[in-house]
Amino acid sequence: MSSQNVRVRFAPSPTGGLHLGGVRTALFNYLFAKKHHGSFVLRIEDTDQTRFVPGAEQYIIDCLNWCGIAPDEDPHRPGNYGPYRQSERKEMYRAYAEQLVEKGYAYYAFDTPEELEKMREQFKSEKNPSPQYNHETRLKMSNSLSLSKEEVEKKLSTNQAFVIRIKMPEHGEIHLHDMIRGDVSFQANLVDDKVLLKADGMPTYHLAVVVDDHSMEITHAFRGEEWLPSAPVHVLLWEYFGWKEKMPKWAHFPLILKPDGQGKLSKRDGDRLGFPVFAMDWLDPKSGEMTKGFKEMGFLPNAFINMLALLGWNDGTGKEIFTKEELIQQFTIERIHKGGAKFDFEKAKWYNQEWIKSSDNELLLPLIKNILHNNGIDADSKILNKVIPITKERCHLLNDFVAQLKYFFIDPTEIDVDAVKPKWDENKSSFFHTLIQEMNNIPNWTAEEVEKCFKETATKLQFKPGDVQLPFRIMLVGGKFGPAVFEISSIIGKNSTIRRIQQGIDLFNK
Ligand code: GLU
Repeated sequence: MSSQNVRVRFAPSPTGGLHLGGVRTALFNYLFAKKHHGSFVLRIEDTDQTRFVPGAEQYIIDCLNWCGIAPDEDPHRPGNYGPYRQSERKEMYRAYAEQLVEKGYAYYAFDTPEELEKMREQFKSEKNPSPQYNHETRLKMSNSLSLSKEEVEKKLSTNQAFVIRIKMPEHGEIHLHDMIRGDVSFQANLVDDKVLLKADGMPTYHLAVVVDDHSMEITHAFRGEEWLPSAPVHVLLWEYFGWKEKMPKWAHFPLILKPDGQGKLSKRDGDRLGFPVFAMDWLDPKSGEMTKGFKEMGFLPNAFINMLALLGWNDGTGKEIFTKEELIQQFTIERIHKGGAKFDFEKAKWYNQEWIKSSDNELLLPLIKNILHNNGIDADSKILNKVIPITKERCHLLNDFVAQLKYFFIDPTEIDVDAVKPKWDENKSSFFHTLIQEMNNIPNWTAEEVEKCFKETATKLQFKPGDVQLPFRIMLVGGKFGPAVFEISSIIGKNSTIRRIQQGIDLFNK
C-alpha cells in the first residue's frame, strides 16, 4: 500500500449527539490515516432530510476538535474533493442511478406506499412473515421490469413519482474481504432490492456512500458493524459501476456493548446508569432536552480517546495508557477484536484519573480554574499551582476538584459534625482555644511552624496529637479528606485557620 495515498472518511449523519461508538469510529479512522500519512475526511451524510437536525453538524466538528482528532478535509476546510455535504452533491447521484438502469442493474419502481403495504400483506405467510421487494415479488409490482416499455415511458413522461431500485441477483454469493473479519460472504438472494434514488430525487445512503467514496478517492472504508448487512449492496454497486479495482478496503468495527454485555450501548443506558454516552453535552433543539457529555462530566480529551481506543483494540502487550502519538504508532486495524467491547464507566474514570495524575499544572490549571469559576469560586492561580499537585491523586473527574479544592478558597460550608461530636469535650474545646492563642504568636506561617506549634500545645495540655488532629482537619476542610493538614493550614493562611478553628469550636460546643 502506498502510504501517501491513504484516504479514509468518517461519514456521520447529522441527527443528534455524537455517541461514543461514533467517536471511536472517527478515532480509528484518524489513527489509521495519521499512521499512513494519509488524509482523514469528514463527510456529512445528510440525504435523509426528515432526520436532519440543525446544529448537529457543527456539534460533530466541535466534538472531533475537542478530542484532538480534527479532520483534514471537512465542509469548512474543503480539500479537492468537495462538496463535503451529501445534500450539496445531490445533482450527481441521479445520473449515476440512471446509468445503472440503462445497464440493467437497477430499475424504476412506481409503487405507491399503499401498493407496497398491500404487497406486504398479500405475500405474507408463516414461512415469510415480512415479505420484501426482491426477486420473488418484483415482477408482481409496478416497475420497469414488470411493465411494458410504453407504459414505463408514459409514466416517466407524465412525471409519475418513482424510485430507482437495485436489481439484486437471484443466485450466487457476494464476497468481501474485511480487514478485521477476513472473508465475509452473503447470499445474494437474501438481500432485498434496496432503493437507490428516492422519489424526491435524493439518493439513499447506499447509492450516495458508493458514489462519494469513489469520487472522493477513499481507499479504506471503516465503519461500525451495524453497516455490515448493507455491505453486499455496496460491493455490488462498485462492481456494477465498473469501479471494482478502486473499491476501498473494508473494515467493520465491533459494537460497544452495555456494561452487562447484553446488546448495543444506547443513550438510554447512559441515562439509566448515570454515565454519559455522548462526547460533549448535546442540547436537542426540538425537545430542549440536554444530554450530558464526557467533556462536561470532567474528562480530559487524551484520557477519553485513550479509553475509546482500548474499547476493542490493544497492542498485544497489556499496555493500557497511550498518548495520541503512541496510538498512531501502534495502531493496526488487524488488531481490532471481532467481538463487541463492553463499556465500563468505572474503567473509563480510571483512565481519566491516570491522565489527571500524569498531566502537568499547565494543562490542568485553566480547566480547573474554569470549573471552579462555574461553581462560584474565583481561584487564585498561585494557590491553584500549589494545591493541584497535592490533590490530583484523589480526582477521577476534573469536576472532583471542586470538592477537593474549594476549602482552599472558601470556608467549608458543610462540616462533618458527626465525625467529631462523640469524642468532643470541654478539654478539647480548651485545647483549641489555647491553640488559637499560640498560633497568634507564630511569626512565620509555614507548614513546619504550624505543625510544631500544634504538637507542642498538645503535649503541654497532655493530648496525643493524633486525638486532636481529626477535629482540626474537619474544622479546616469540612470532612475527613484532603492532603496533610498542616500543609492545608499553611496555604489558607493564619487568619483563615484561626477563623475556622473558632467556628469549629462554636459548632462542636453546641
Ligand atoms: N452515514 C452512515 C452513518 O451514519 C455512515 C456509514 C458508513 O460509514 O458507510 O454512520
